[in-house]
Amino acid sequence: MLQITSEVAATIAHHAEVTYPDECVGLLIGRLDGAAKIVLFAYPVENRWAGQVQLAENDDPESQRDRFYLDPRDYLRADREARARDLEIVGCYHSHPDHPAIPSERDRVGSQAVGGGTSFAFAIQSVQAGKAAGLTSWLLVEEGTRFAAEDVVVSP
Ligand SMILES: [Zn+2]
Repeated sequence: MLQITSEVAATIAHHAEVTYPDECVGLLIGRLDGAAKIVLFAYPVENRWAGQVQLAENDDPESQRDRFYLDPRDYLRADREARARDLEIVGCYHSHPDHPAIPSERDRVGSQAVGGGTSFAFAIQSVQAGKAAGLTSWLLVEEGTRFAAEDVVVSP
């Protein structure tokens, strides 16, 4: 279960809208509480897709419409800031411009590079015609062979 504050939800939605029609990407910072992840901050980072990672043969390396690249340097920077507050990175998010908030095969391959534990959340914010739509969250299961949906709860 992914529990986010309404402020975190608004930050992700806004980030997804301003980067539209490109994908946005960011990290989720908070703490683990049993099986639940309590997200206290969304940490937007730049989508550093620049063709340096080709995940499929027919990729257009210039497009940021349907892919994201989470730079390990950004991850480390977020991790330092989280630890300084006694928190940790509990997941990441990216947007799906004009697509439903369902992970793609490319997401699955790409998320194995992001790492994180078995409870690491992969949240997806759908953006339809520039307006934020649904937010979902997914866990990589069965040794990274598929995604399973988890509940997203927004607290006030
Ligand atoms: Zn995706």
